[in-house]
Amino acid sequence: MATLTAEIEKDTKKIPVKGMMNNVMMQFENAADQIQLHPNIKKILSITNNEIIVNFPVKMDNGEVEVFTGYRVQHNNALGPYKGGLRYHPTVDIDAARALAMWMTWKTSLAGLPYGGGKGGIKLDPSKYSQEELERITRRFTFALADNIGPEHDIPAPDVNTNSQTMAWMADTYMSTRPPAERTANQHVVTGKPAGSGGLEGRDRSTGYGVYLSIKFWAEKNKKSLKGKKFIVQGFGNVGYWAAYFLEKDGAKLVGVQDAYGSIQNQKGIGVEDLFNYSQVNDGSIVNFPNANPVLKNKFFALNCDICIPAALGNQITKENASKIKAKLIAEGANGPTNVDGEKILLDRGITIIPDILCNSGGVVGSYFEWLQNRNGELWQLDEVMSKLDKKLKESFNKVYEYSEREAMDMRTAAYCIAIQRIEKAYVQRGIFP
Ligand code: NAD
Repeated sequence: MATLTAEIEKDTKKIPVKGMMNNVMMQFENAADQIQLHPNIKKILSITNNEIIVNFPVKMDNGEVEVFTGYRVQHNNALGPYKGGLRYHPTVDIDAARALAMWMTWKTSLAGLPYGGGKGGIKLDPSKYSQEELERITRRFTFALADNIGPEHDIPAPDVNTNSQTMAWMADTYMSTRPPAERTANQHVVTGKPAGSGGLEGRDRSTGYGVYLSIKFWAEKNKKSLKGKKFIVQGFGNVGYWAAYFLEKDGAKLVGVQDAYGSIQNQKGIGVEDLFNYSQVNDGSIVNFPNANPVLKNKFFALNCDICIPAALGNQITKENASKIKAKLIAEGANGPTNVDGEKILLDRGITIIPDILCNSGGVVGSYFEWLQNRNGELWQLDEVMSKLDKKLKESFNKVYEYSEREAMDMRTAAYCIAIQRIEKAYVQRGIFP
């Protein structure tokens, strides 16, 4: 068992997160061809508006100074302020930030929100830093981004390895560095804050809830029940946990989980709350959970199941493992988890993919509600938030599903077509300055 775990860990560290930009561009070009996007608009959307790279020093607990590199890419703001997460991970670089920012543009457009797309983060492994160091890193990063973010300009949110605490530090730093009269009016500079500090009740679960709803809507369209359906989840963080939580509540059975440290399975079922409680006292790791067996990293996606939810990083389902997947439905909780080669194999095998820009859009819709709540000085109740999410996500799902049926295309291409056409319309109506 110990050897297997060590092998799994070694295996996991090898995963490259590369080529996301290539992936998003191929997806974009495919949809652009389908809708015969005007070449001028294609030119605009093929590049990012702004790319900010900041190097900033932070004092460590031992008195030494470390210099960090942070990124913020603003892809497009034709529909409104840039919106998108900040990620703390060793794989963060300009290429990853560009790809993720582009995905945000399509996602916010598809969801019908008044936002554009942005993304960023810091290249670091947060497990190597104390809470105090992470706070100083976050505050200094916020300060370095300074006038490049803002509640009506670019609004970050949590992503991999960042959470409501990170957002609370960002909001506090941003507000503290504004002139006194502007301070409190600026708390919607970030979303995903804790509910006690301007955050929205339910924002924590909104992405995972949206993943669950997408699966539920798909099952309803296909006259299937979720009762007893087996599912596996890659990534047991914010998105993976909440998606599993709602699926289990609806009668589905979690049979496999993979996180950054290892993989586990139990075909009889893994209790979602039990696993969550276990991970909370094991530094966030699921490894060695007592009611499951370890699985090798490269065998994870081949586990027996009906639904597969990649909810960790990009480029996880590729030509190396797509042919081994047993699930009939892939619900993309993560951004860009399936690359173009992997997708082709899945589609040829008749496997349905609910694409990231639809499947995980509950997060940005929740963020939009938080932004509205702050802007309007309101406080929304949890049940109100959940029913608004339900309504908004159902509209998006139906739009994509019907488009894909009507045009006989996969759901990703359909989602892209809808998203890009909305942006195209804005450019056509407004023209290009000057
Ligand atoms: P998180 O930090 O809360 O959790 C990430 C999980 O992935 C952890 O369990 C971690 O151990 C696991 N993981 C990391 N590297 C891995 C690897 N190499 N192999 C397997 N597992 C690995 O992050 P999150 O907020 O849940 O985000 C997960 C994904 O969902 C990301 O792709 C993110 O962009 C996307 N997403 C998040 C939100 C949101 O609201 N948080 C919204 C939309 C999309």
